Amino acid sequence: MTAQIISGTELSKQIRAEVAQRAAALTAKGKQPGLAVILVGDDPASQVYVRNKVKACADNGLHSVLEKYDATLSEADLLKRIDALNNDPAIHGILVQMPLPKHIDPHKVIEAISTKKDVDGYSVLSAGELMTGLPGFRPCTPYGCMKMIESTGVNLRGKHAVVIGRSNTVGKPMALLLLQANATVTICHSGTPDLGYHTRQADIVVAAVGRRNTLTADMIKPGAIVIDVGINQDENGKLCGDVDFAQAKEVAGYISPVPGGVGPMTITMLLVNTIEAAERS
Ligand code: NAP
Repeated sequence: MTAQIISGTELSKQIRAEVAQRAAALTAKGKQPGLAVILVGDDPASQVYVRNKVKACADNGLHSVLEKYDATLSEADLLKRIDALNNDPAIHGILVQMPLPKHIDPHKVIEAISTKKDVDGYSVLSAGELMTGLPGFRPCTPYGCMKMIESTGVNLRGKHAVVIGRSNTVGKPMALLLLQANATVTICHSGTPDLGYHTRQADIVVAAVGRRNTLTADMIKPGAIVIDVGINQDENGKLCGDVDFAQAKEVAGYISPVPGGVGPMTITMLLVNTIEAAERS
C-alpha cells in the first residue's frame, strides 16, 4: 500500500484563499485584520518562522507589524509593548515568538496578551476554553493537524488516536481536539515504556516529539492516518520529521510529509485565528 499524501501546502492554499476573501471583506468595512509579531533575540529558526508569518499576512491581505528586540530586552519592557498592542485598534492578534530569552517568564508574557488577541491560543483561558469545549482560539499547530485529519474525510467517532508528545502547545491540545471529535485518545510521552504497542493499535497517530525516526513503519497499523509535527534535520542537514516517511508511507493510509505538511498549516491557522479575532472585535 502507498499512502495518500496529506499536503499541508495544498490544503493551506485552499484555506488561505478563504482567509483572503474574509480579510478583503473586513478591509472593505474599514477593519483590515492586523497581526503583531514580536521577536526577542536572534534565534535563527525563530527568525525564519516570524518572517514566514509576516509574509503570509502580506500575501493574504492582512496587516502585520514585526517588532524585533535585542535579547537583552527586559521583561518589564516587553510587557509594556504588549500592553500598547493590546490597546491598538489596528491590531487584532498578538504573537510573541517562543522561545524567549531565559530572563523572561513566558507564562507572564502569554498571560499579558489580551484574551481577545491571543491568536496563538496559549493562554490559560484559551486552554480552558478548549478543555471545556467552549469556542475560543485553538493553538495553531494542533488546529492545523485537525484540518489535515478532517481533509481525509475519515469520521473519527470510534477511532483510536495516539498522540506522541504532551507539550502544552502541541501534544495536549491535540489530544483534546481529537477527543472533541469523538476519537478514543491515548497520549504517549518519554515515560511510555513501549511506544509501538500503543501506536500499532492506532487509526490515527500524531507524532510531536522532535526526534527523528520516533515512528517507524513497524509501529504503524496498516491504513492509519499519520501526522508528523516534528521538525528535525537528517544526517545531511535536510529537514525531516519524527516519522520515517519513506518506509511509513508504504504502510499508512494517509501521511503528512515534512517539509510541506504541518508547517504551512500552522501559519494558515494563525491567519484564521487573526481573521476570527478581527471579526469578533
Ligand atoms: P516539546 O515541548 O519538547 O515536547 C516533546 C514531547 O515529546 C514531550 O512531551 C516528550 O515527553 C515527548 N517525548 C520525548 N521523547 C520521547 C520518546 N522517546 N517517546 C515518546 N515521547 C517522547 O516539543 P513540542 O513543542 O511539543 O514540539 C514537538 C516537535 O514538533 C518539535 O520537533 C517541534 O519543533 C515541532 N513543532 C512543529 C511545529 C510546526 O509548525 N511544524 C509547531 C510546533 C512544534 P515528556 O513530556 O515526557 O518530556
